[in-house]
Formats: sequence, C-alpha cells, structure tokens
Amino acid sequence: MQTQRLRIAIQKKGRLSKECQDLLKRCGVKFNMMGERLVVHSENMPIDLLLVRDDDIPGLIMDGVVDLGVIGENELEEVGLERAARNEPSDYKKLRRLDFGGCRLSIAIDKDATYNGPQDLQGKRIATTYPQLVKRYMDEQGVTFSPCMLNGSVEVAPRAGLADAICDLVSTGATLEANGLKEAAVILRSKAVLIQCTADLGAEKQALIDRLLTRMQGVIQAKE
Ligand code: ATP
Ligand code: ZN
Repeated sequence: MQTQRLRIAIQKKGRLSKECQDLLKRCGVKFNMMGERLVVHSENMPIDLLLVRDDDIPGLIMDGVVDLGVIGENELEEVGLERAARNEPSDYKKLRRLDFGGCRLSIAIDKDATYNGPQDLQGKRIATTYPQLVKRYMDEQGVTFSPCMLNGSVEVAPRAGLADAICDLVSTGATLEANGLKEAAVILRSKAVLIQCTADLGAEKQALIDRLLTRMQGVIQAKE
C-alpha cells in the first residue's frame, strides 16, 4: 500500500507523546489531536501521524509500514534483538537522537544487599520487561541468570518472591527506593530517537524528511 503522504508513528499516550507532538509543532507541522483517532492528518504538510503504543513503533518501522517513528532507544533495541533472533527484519536508520525521554535501564537489588559487580548476579532470577537487553549485558559480563518476564509491576517482583533482582527503567530512582531496592548497574542509557525505515521512499518524501530534520536541528539547538 503506497501513499504519497509521509507517515510518522508516535506514541499515543505516555511519556514520549507530549514532547513528541511539541517537537513536530515547533518544526511547523500543523495538526489537531482530538478524539481517539489512530491517524491524524497534518493540515499544512503531506504528513500523517500514526498514534500507537510505543511497543509497536520499532516493528512498524522495521516492516516498512510507516516511514518515520519516534521511540525510546530501550524499546528500539529490545525489539530489534528480539526480531533478529526470530529472523525477522530488524533494520532501521537512526536519523537523530532527541532531547527528551532520557532514562537508564538498570539492574536493581535489595537495598541492603552488597554488590561488588555483575558476578554477584550469577544464577539470580531477574524480573524485567527487557529480557533481550538483560541477556546481552549478562552475556557480555559472562554471567548466567534466569529471566522472569513481566510487562508491568516489575519493581514489586522481589518483594513478591518472584525474583531476586530486577532490570527496569529508572529516572529519579524514587520508585526503586519506594520498593526497597537500590540501583546496582546501569546497562543502557536511553533517549528518544527519530528513526526511518530502510526502504527507498522516493525523492519527494526524502526531501520532506530532510527538510524536517533541518528544522529539528534548529529547534533542538535553540533549546540548548
Ligand atoms: P504504551 O502504552 O505506549 O505502551 P508504556 O507504558 O510502555 O506506554 P511509557 O511509560 O509512556 O511507556 O514510557 C515510554 C518511554 O519513555 C520508555 O520506553 C522510555 O524510553 C521513556 N522513559 C523516560 N523516562 C522514563 C521512566 N522514568 N520510566 C519509564 N520510561 C521512561
Ligand atoms: Zn509500551
């Protein structure tokens, strides 16, 4: 299905959505978010915004369903590893890192436990939403572990007796503290990024992307 309009996938609701919409608006893309629509047409440019769960954005890009996407590197890398392991397309072009969505993916343990390095995690069960990224890190460290896959409530897993440690996104550390945990190791520092599918989009769409990127550069520099 070809369309002449540039399709950009962004998170519908969550930590990336407001800043993402603001960035597009500052780049001169006019649109009106209202209701529960999946697709929002820009009023002044040949651009359609696709409003989806952030988890879906890497796959939409890697399958070439949409042209551009804004996504956290944590999610992007996790999905990329997962798809590569299943021999599904996992390619994309990273156009630029953005100035929002900053967080770190960290391993956290009981606040009273001692931690001298990754070897202390040997044989432990680790609850996480990011099993591929945890495995990559643990493989690099030469440490084996057991996964406990959770899509939510990861931070309560140790207290609930489901896991010995967790690997989750952290920004202030307040959630860890509230759950009697402390940060032991940072395995990824993440920000939101703008990505493009690898397919050739044709001269017109590519020119529009280049124009958007130039504007984005200006918008982000002006804020610094
Ligand atoms: P969705 O309903 O779209 O699946 P979600 O609950 O998976 O939403 P959010 O909590 O909105 O996702 O987080 C989206 C992204 O925001 C994260 O993947 C991460 O890149 C970034 N982020 C920045 N700071 C944090 C934080 N403190 N905790 C979680 N995510 C953060
Ligand atoms: Zn999500």
